[in-house]
Amino acid sequence: MVSGDRIAAIGSDLVAPAGCAVLEAAGHLVLPGLINAHFHSPGNFMKGMLDGLPLELFMLYEVPPLAEGADSGRLAHVRTLLGALEMLKLGITSVMDDAFHVPIATRDSVDGIMAAYRDSGMRARVAIDQPNVVEYDKFPFLADLLPAEMRAAMDAAPRQSGEELIELYRHLIDTWDGAADGRLSAALSCSAPQRVTVPYLEALSRLSRERHLPFNIHILETKLQRVLGEEKYGRSLVRYAHDNGALSPDTVVIHAIWVDDDDMRILAETGVTVAHNPVCNLRLGSGIAPFRAWRNAGIQVCLGTDELIADDSANLWGAIKGMGLVHTLADADPATWPAAPEILDTMWHGGARALGLEGRIGRLAPGALADIAVVDLDTFAFTPLNDIERQLVYCETGSSVRHVMVGGRWVVRDGRVTTVDEVALRREARAIMAEAAPGMAAAREAALKLDPYYRAMVRRAHARDVGLRRRLD
Ligand SMILES: [Zn+2]
Repeated sequence: MVSGDRIAAIGSDLVAPAGCAVLEAAGHLVLPGLINAHFHSPGNFMKGMLDGLPLELFMLYEVPPLAEGADSGRLAHVRTLLGALEMLKLGITSVMDDAFHVPIATRDSVDGIMAAYRDSGMRARVAIDQPNVVEYDKFPFLADLLPAEMRAAMDAAPRQSGEELIELYRHLIDTWDGAADGRLSAALSCSAPQRVTVPYLEALSRLSRERHLPFNIHILETKLQRVLGEEKYGRSLVRYAHDNGALSPDTVVIHAIWVDDDDMRILAETGVTVAHNPVCNLRLGSGIAPFRAWRNAGIQVCLGTDELIADDSANLWGAIKGMGLVHTLADADPATWPAAPEILDTMWHGGARALGLEGRIGRLAPGALADIAVVDLDTFAFTPLNDIERQLVYCETGSSVRHVMVGGRWVVRDGRVTTVDEVALRREARAIMAEAAPGMAAAREAALKLDPYYRAMVRRAHARDVGLRRRLD
């Protein structure tokens, strides 16, 4: 039974009070809404846009370093809604959106994203993921590899100061944190420690500790980033982030694939949550995350899809199944492979922890928020019913989800979104993308000119022995 935005009671003999709406759900399974703990909504228009590439080349096309202008509020709104509706229909009720803005973040683009989540009915924690150092400083070797005119073009590209970005964070927090009856909230992000100035990294770390806001940091997603740490900081990026005060129980460390034992000890001791994105990691050839070593070290883990250019959907069910599959490649001992209950716990409990909502989402219990997915068991995924948890992990794709509630309000009924006209939304998304096409083609042309230098950089980094094995090569 639901009252207001909470679960009031659970039982087989409850009597509905007068005036209480009743959902007939015989033959259905009621689940806590799924939690997508790592996501970038600005990738929502980019599904299927690129073949697999190493992250550094992938990002060259995804977030072109010489892009101009800024996203309009309207574009940000429609783009964010598209992903939110996809997630809601799959039973995903909460998301941590580490939203980047190319090339600069504005109030308009931030407000567009937040208004989209407000209108969708989804629960969302949203950060401003904005690097603020010059492009070639984010990588090893690149400054030496690039011709002077390309370095000069990167020097001239728009960038925001730490002060400007903190000011924008104040706007996000003052305007949106706790909005829509508490459904919307703010998070922080530095994108990655090597992508921001030290004063800005320190300012975000302070703000996270003061306000207990989740702080999103991508660390050691690729082998190249391990090499970057050695070349630029003389230590691993985990230790570098720790030395700058960025790691705490409020921190969400994204990927953490190329971590060594010392890094894992730091991640466990500081109490961060690591966001695991198995499908994205495969799509970009980043390597197999050391999931069992994380857990043995005492590290908390949550699960995400990352983004629609690197998944290529917002379907967390795919990441759930991917997590069940990929770790069989890492170790021949099946005792190290995550079983269904551990995978679901990572997604629900780990996700709730990452979003700073532990105990309030990801569980069905009196007092918890009424974020619920109702799944039809009269489907191929659950027929015959052998083991509910394994069939959730390995059989369900999201197509059995019939009804979804967020904070006590139905947002999907009988498979249809109730909050927004999704047919009109898709029409508008196509129109906006058609308008954006010439600008995107120009950005791609500019990226193609940079491509050979980035490839040379990646080859050089991959040739180095960093003392870790995360791939089968
Ligand atoms: Zn990410």
